[in-house]
Amino acid sequence: MSSVPGHLKAVWHPELTKNGFLKGNIVCPCGGEVFHVSDNENSPSRGYGEDGLLIQATCVQCGAVCVIVDEAKHGYDGFVCHSYQTADPGTLHPHLCGCGSSQFRMTVSIEPEDEEQFMEEVVAEEPDSFQPEDFVNAFSWITIDTQCADCGVQENWIDLETA
Ligand SMILES: [Zn+2]
Ligand SMILES: [Zn+2]
Repeated sequence: MSSVPGHLKAVWHPELTKNGFLKGNIVCPCGGEVFHVSDNENSPSRGYGEDGLLIQATCVQCGAVCVIVDEAKHGYDGFVCHSYQTADPGTLHPHLCGCGSSQFRMTVSIEPEDEEQFMEEVVAEEPDSFQPEDFVNAFSWITIDTQCADCGVQENWIDLETA
């Protein structure tokens, strides 16, 4: 899928849904689908001009770490407008299920930026800063659904407008 954001290419191979979103599970290159997830969702330093939402996933099987979203770099507001700074990884806390588990499967959905609109509004204005293919990083919405790997409970966790 050509509109997958660069930072997710190795771990996410989504399908296009009827409403124009890309949707798929996070799968580690090792094949692992269960992750320890950490985030700064409730950090006091989060906010416009301050820390963006940062979510990291560590593969339970091989230990590889991937960033699922850094609002400072991914999505239109962060990537094009630089509206946030990247949070210190030290501010991240484990995401926990009600059962106490910190191990989850994750499904990510993204609303891609329109390629033509990105060309007209961004690349044409700042040709030294942006390339046409960068539209993949300027998505306008991301949701993350989790399923606890221990008790099976599903959660519509993150629902973040990024444009
Ligand atoms: Zn792995
Ligand atoms: Zn659970």
